[in-house]
Amino acid sequence: MSATASAPQIHNRVQQFIGTPRKMFINGKWVEAASGKTFPVYNPATGEVMARVAEGDREDINRAVKAARKAFESGPWPVMTASDRGRLIWQLGDLIEQHLEEFAQLESLDNGKPLSVARVADVPLAVDLFHYMAGWATKIEGNTIPFSPKYLAYTRREPIGVVGQIIPWNFPLLMAAWKLGPALATGCTVVLKPAEQTPLSALLLAELVAEAGIPDGVVNVVPGYGETAGAALASHNDVDKVAFTGSTEVGKLIVQAAAGNLKKVSLELGGKSPNIVFDDADMSKTISGAASAIFFNHGQCCCAGSRLYVEKSMFDNVVSGVVDEAKKIKVGPGFDAETDMGPLVSKEQLDRVTGYLQSGFSEGAEAVVGGRKKSGAGYFVEPTVMVKTNPNMKIMREEIFGPVVCAMPFSDVDKLIAEANQSEYGLAAAVWTRDISKAHRIAEKLRAGTVWINCYNVFDPAMPFGGYKQSGWGREMGHDVLELYTEVKAVCAAI
Ligand code: NAP
Ligand code: MG
Repeated sequence: MSATASAPQIHNRVQQFIGTPRKMFINGKWVEAASGKTFPVYNPATGEVMARVAEGDREDINRAVKAARKAFESGPWPVMTASDRGRLIWQLGDLIEQHLEEFAQLESLDNGKPLSVARVADVPLAVDLFHYMAGWATKIEGNTIPFSPKYLAYTRREPIGVVGQIIPWNFPLLMAAWKLGPALATGCTVVLKPAEQTPLSALLLAELVAEAGIPDGVVNVVPGYGETAGAALASHNDVDKVAFTGSTEVGKLIVQAAAGNLKKVSLELGGKSPNIVFDDADMSKTISGAASAIFFNHGQCCCAGSRLYVEKSMFDNVVSGVVDEAKKIKVGPGFDAETDMGPLVSKEQLDRVTGYLQSGFSEGAEAVVGGRKKSGAGYFVEPTVMVKTNPNMKIMREEIFGPVVCAMPFSDVDKLIAEANQSEYGLAAAVWTRDISKAHRIAEKLRAGTVWINCYNVFDPAMPFGGYKQSGWGREMGHDVLELYTEVKAVCAAI
C-alpha cells in the first residue's frame, strides 16, 4: 500500500515486520515450523497477500507445550515473587504503549479496522488490561477455615498449569491480552494460537514478552490453522486448561477435544445481542448509540447489538436515525484517515455476511440502507439496517458478524423480554430509557452476561465479560477471571 494524502506512511518497523516471513515463538526463541511450511496473511482491504507466517502444526504445538511445561515446573517462573511477576506484566503493558503506533498499524493492515480506531481502542485497551492484571498478581489469596480447634485448615489458590489459548481475528491484540494477562498474573504458562487471518500482532507481542524479561517458555506463540494447530492444542494431554474465543460451533469442538484429559475449559463464544430502545429514551444519545452498537468494528463483535427492538411509537424515528448514521459512515481501507469502517476480515466472512443478507431478503426482510457488498477489490459490506423482520428469520436468530442490524418494533414489555431472551445466545444486551427503575428491572430479566444501560460496548478490565447459555463458559476480566486460571487446594493439618 502506498502513502497517499489520506493514508499515513507505514511505520518502518511495521514494513520490516511484514516484509520478512515471521517465525513462531517457542521457549523464548524464534523458530521455523517443524514442517518448514509458511502460510499467507492477506490484507482484507485489497485481498492481496501482505505477509507470510510460519505454519504451526501438531509437532510445533508439542514443542511449545513441552517448553511451557518446563517453564511451569522449573526455572525462574514458579519461584518468582508475585510482586516481580506483577512488575513484568506491568512492563509488558508499558512496552505495548511505547509501540502503540506499530501495533495500531499492524492491526489495521491485518484485520482491516480503521487505524484511528486501533489507536484509541484496541491498543490502549490491551495496555490497560496488562496494567490491571499486573495488580492482581499480588492479590491472589486463600482463606483460613476455622472449623475446629484441632485442625488448621486453609486454602491456596494455585496456578492451573499449562494453558492453551486460542483466539479469533476481530480484536487480535486485545484478545491476546485478555488471555495472557490473567494467565501471567496467576503464574500459569501459555501456548497461544492466534487466528490464521490475523497472526501478526501476537507475534509482535511475543517480541515484547521477551523484551519485558518474562522467562523463556512462559509464553509461546504458535500461529497456524484451527483444524491443525488449534485442534492439537485443545486435545493435548499435557495441557491443563484451554481458553477459547470464537464461534459457538468451534467452541463445541473444543469441549470435545478437551474431554481426552478433561482439561479445564473456558469459552467466550458468539452472540445475538438485543438492543432495546424505549420511547422515553434520550434519542440524542440513543440513536448514535444503537448505530455504533452494531457498526463498531464492522459488526465483527461477539457482543454486537444486532437485534434492535424499538418501542412502536418511536420505531420509524429510531430506524431513520440509525439509517442516517449508517449513511454517514465512510467505508474504505482501514489505513485511510477518512475511513470510519474498513473491510470484513476475509473472503470467507464476506461470503458469510452476504449470504445472510440474501437469506434475509428471501425470507421477506428489507434493507432500508445498505444490503450489498461494495463493488471493487477488498471485502467491504455496506452498513445495513434490515426491517420487516420477524423472530423466526435466520437473520434474527443467527450471528451474522457483520455490519447488519435487524430492527423490530415492540409494544408489550413482557413479550419483548421473552423475545429478547429467546436466543441460544446470552452474551450482551442493552436498554435505553430515561426511566432508571424500568432499566434495572429489565436488566435483571435479561439472560445475558453484560447488560448496558444507556450505553453500549463499554469495556473495562475490571468488569467481567462472558456469556449465558451458548455464549460461553466463565468470565474473562475482573477478579472473576482469576477463577479460570487457578485451582483451589484445601490444606488441613491436625494440630
Ligand atoms: P472460529 O473458527 O471459531 O475461529 C476462532 C479460533 O479458533 C481461531 O484461532 C481458529 O483458527 C480456531 N479454530 C478453528 N477451528 C478449530 C478447531 N477445530 N480446533 C481448535 N481451534 C480451532 O471462527 P471463524 O471461522 O474465524 O469465524 C466464524 C464465525 O465465528 C464468525 O462469523 C462469528 O460468527 C464467530 N466469531 C466469533 C468471535 C467472538 O469473538 N466470539 C470471534 C470470531 C468469530 P483459524 O482462524 O486458524 O481457523
Ligand atoms: Mg476458522
